[in-house]
Amino acid sequence: MNRLSNTVVHEICTNQVVVTLQACVKELVENSLDAKATRIEVRLRDSGAELLEVVDDGCGIAAEDFEKVASRHATSKIRQYNDLSSGDFSTFGFRGEALSAISAMGDLTIATKTKASAASLLCYDRYGKLASTSPIAREVGTTVSVRELFKRLPVRHKEFMRNAKSQVSATLRLIQSYAIAQPQVRFSVIAEKLRGPSAGKATLLCTSGTASDWHQAAAAVLGDAALSKTQKLNISAGPWQVEGLISSPVAGRRSRDAQLFFVNGRPIDAPKRVAKLINDTYHQYNSRAWPLVILSFTAPQGMVDVNVTPDKKQVFLHEEEQLLTELQPALTELLGISEVHGVHSGPSGPVLSHFGIRPSNAGSGDDGQAPNTPEPVRPQSPMVSRETPEKSQFFGEMAMRTLVPDSQSSTSTADDVPQMHVVEMHEGSQDASPERRRGHAADG
Ligand code: ADP
Ligand code: MG
Repeated sequence: MNRLSNTVVHEICTNQVVVTLQACVKELVENSLDAKATRIEVRLRDSGAELLEVVDDGCGIAAEDFEKVASRHATSKIRQYNDLSSGDFSTFGFRGEALSAISAMGDLTIATKTKASAASLLCYDRYGKLASTSPIAREVGTTVSVRELFKRLPVRHKEFMRNAKSQVSATLRLIQSYAIAQPQVRFSVIAEKLRGPSAGKATLLCTSGTASDWHQAAAAVLGDAALSKTQKLNISAGPWQVEGLISSPVAGRRSRDAQLFFVNGRPIDAPKRVAKLINDTYHQYNSRAWPLVILSFTAPQGMVDVNVTPDKKQVFLHEEEQLLTELQPALTELLGISEVHGVHSGPSGPVLSHFGIRPSNAGSGDDGQAPNTPEPVRPQSPMVSRETPEKSQFFGEMAMRTLVPDSQSSTSTADDVPQMHVVEMHEGSQDASPERRRGHAADG
């Protein structure tokens, strides 16, 4: 029997942290947010295959950390396990794995400057060891550059090249949700192609960073039309503060493609039970559509466990039962108010029983007996497929729409909503034709 060497273990383990372009970008953006950046720019050259860069104006990395940042389990964010549950701990970083994993996947260099020190360019080898340091010029902040991501993993590299377009749109969707979750941060995504007919630079997304809240930011990212027939949800449930928007029953979507969840300002995968409760309740009022959902949960950090999956996108919400119990009557009230004639209206409370939770009677006005609860009505329209929701379609569309000139945009945006500034520049041609723009969009 052989014992695997540390370097082999390093390469095997890193495979779980940074599996896709999107996962890689997510880690880097999280780091920038943890560094209190107010501007974050993501640059993708050749869909990120050739060069991926995340540039921020955060606090920078101190010289004494240069050696450590890309070594395994090196983090400046926690010292001991207990820190994880302390109330003022507010980061999704802390495992010290991302830069180490990235250094194993591609060539990692970091340019960084803190307020107190001069700027440095740092090159790391594939084991995360600092290989060289040289002086450069730059503002306070950090640029992490990854060249030839996945080049050391031939299978994954091939897979990446085959799906480059969809990986770029997934990355764009991720940045869109960060832009909504962090309205005070200015995000941009720039795609660059050096060769071929569509060579040039394109700004795929650029937010103002001046929206006053995530609601405004959502309008700027998704367009006013998408938010027009939505209703505000605002509840507190135990430690949780929940704010959000949900489509009214008259205005659902054909697929489940616009459901966003945030915990403490960071996008997460839909918490399964919460999403199920919302969709099941919604289907009692409109069985033919899916709601647009944007829900933002806030609680002291100890209430969230982000260590559930390596990519930290699935989180465990403490006191979820209480959350569901409070959420259910609030949803029923909200959706019931705008109920439409001819659409089946379910009694309040039934869907909680799917979770083994006794329905609360608040607002139901019944005699205190739990109603004899029918299964929520399933969508009957052949246009709606519950089995294969086109989950990402909406944001994909949005991404493409941002490249169409304003006059052709299908949604109008109110004056008081900060605009997504979508500028497209082709080298050598400032005013590319719409056809050219769309062609570029299709190139991803
Ligand atoms: P973690 O985020 O879990 O601490 P990472 O591997 O992502 O681990 O990052 C390692 C360390 O590098 C961080 O703890 C932080 O100190 C530093 N770092 C990484 N990116 C940045 C950045 N953009 N700005 C400032 N510091 C950074
Ligand atoms: Mg990190």
